[in-house]
Amino acid sequence: MSYISNILFAILLIVGVGFFTRNIKRLIRNIKLGRDIDRSDRSSERWKNMISIALGQSKMVSRPVAGILHIIVYVGFIIINIEVLEIIIDGLFGTHRAFSFAGGLYSFLIGSFEILAFLVLVSVIIFWIRRMILKIPRFWNKEMTTWPKNDALNILYFEMVLMSLFLIMNAADFSLQQLGADHYVNAGSFPISSYISNWLPQNEGTLIFIERAAWWVHIIGIFIFLNYLYYSKHLHILLAFPNTYYANLEPQGKFNNLQSVTDEVKMMLDPSADPYAAPAESDIEVTPEKFGASDITDLSWVQLMNAYTCTECGRCTSVCPANQTGKELSPRAIMMKTRDRAEEVGRLIDKDGLENFKEKPDGKSLLDTISNEEIWACTSCNACVTECPVNIDPLSIIVDLRRYLVMEQSSAPQELNMMMTNIENNGAPWQYNQMDRLNWKDE
Ligand code: SF4
Ligand code: SF4
Repeated sequence: MSYISNILFAILLIVGVGFFTRNIKRLIRNIKLGRDIDRSDRSSERWKNMISIALGQSKMVSRPVAGILHIIVYVGFIIINIEVLEIIIDGLFGTHRAFSFAGGLYSFLIGSFEILAFLVLVSVIIFWIRRMILKIPRFWNKEMTTWPKNDALNILYFEMVLMSLFLIMNAADFSLQQLGADHYVNAGSFPISSYISNWLPQNEGTLIFIERAAWWVHIIGIFIFLNYLYYSKHLHILLAFPNTYYANLEPQGKFNNLQSVTDEVKMMLDPSADPYAAPAESDIEVTPEKFGASDITDLSWVQLMNAYTCTECGRCTSVCPANQTGKELSPRAIMMKTRDRAEEVGRLIDKDGLENFKEKPDGKSLLDTISNEEIWACTSCNACVTECPVNIDPLSIIVDLRRYLVMEQSSAPQELNMMMTNIENNGAPWQYNQMDRLNWKDE
């Protein structure tokens, strides 16, 4: 009988890890749909960013209540999952509390896990209250409909259930240890679950049933959670690390000029240049096939990783001046729509293959879901980039979409088109003659 449970556990492990690996491969493939960009420079600065922002959660505490609660959930969740290693060994080999040989250290660890599990439970309940009772506005923006809203709640419920099962499992175990039940070695310290054990029936058979049921549901829940990650905003617990490592290190506000356009402008401003000269071989190579971005394949892999990393926290939207003044734009929605489109393309590739998609794209684009109104509402203030706790850059996507609209579609708003025409013709944004453009200085 015990072999059957070991075999069942091994099957569960293989299926759980197998699906997770498949999802990770799919994630990497989708991110690689983006164009190449070199972020291999300044590695020490990148490591520092990753350690301080992703591991140290330094940007989270700019909003102390949510920040501290998030740190508790994050640290608690990661550390408690160390116990998963013991669960896996016990599940595969039929042992019970395989690490109990560590004696005092084991007791210390189990005791710490329990306190953390309790703190996680309390924090998650406070998160739920903030979201569902206090109704903090950024959780109720119009993009937070159906799935995004349910996803956030699912995660909170998942964590509540997993932490409760962990404590119930320990409570039953504690009682069984007190009763001297076979197989239940006397190990661990139970500062929280020893109180819960008072509420359980003190009958050996029932306690074993409760302990085993909690153990199995807990581990099955962990495997489900592991595989849920890919479909959820919770993917940030993995992607926050590479995302902060590969984030843009240039000063905010510095745009990545297109080399071919810069060269063209320089040539126009150079009185000695021959406008009819054939372009140099090297210039032909740097001229891109397409200016800006209309779909995810025009964005860089870092921008796509940004989209998959977005936690949908809405901090960016809550500081966005365009959003605050009632415009359509929400930087969070830009990231969500980019991820949705990457997923849509990914599903097509799953179905028909990458080559087929390249030869016969579906004819859709990011611009089907991100409107011109959103794109042109941005003031390029960078507030969203500054505020994002995982260094996501929604502005870079907006700029690339604008670049496409201006340079490929000539479809900028009329005021901008007039300004650009004036710059081209008059060397200034105003409708003055070239000769008069510096008159203002004499006023
Ligand atoms: S850069 Fe654009 S999207 Fe970001 S906060 Fe400023 S106005 Fe909003
Ligand atoms: S882009 Fe950053 S700040 Fe905005 S919702 Fe996503 S994680 Fe939050």
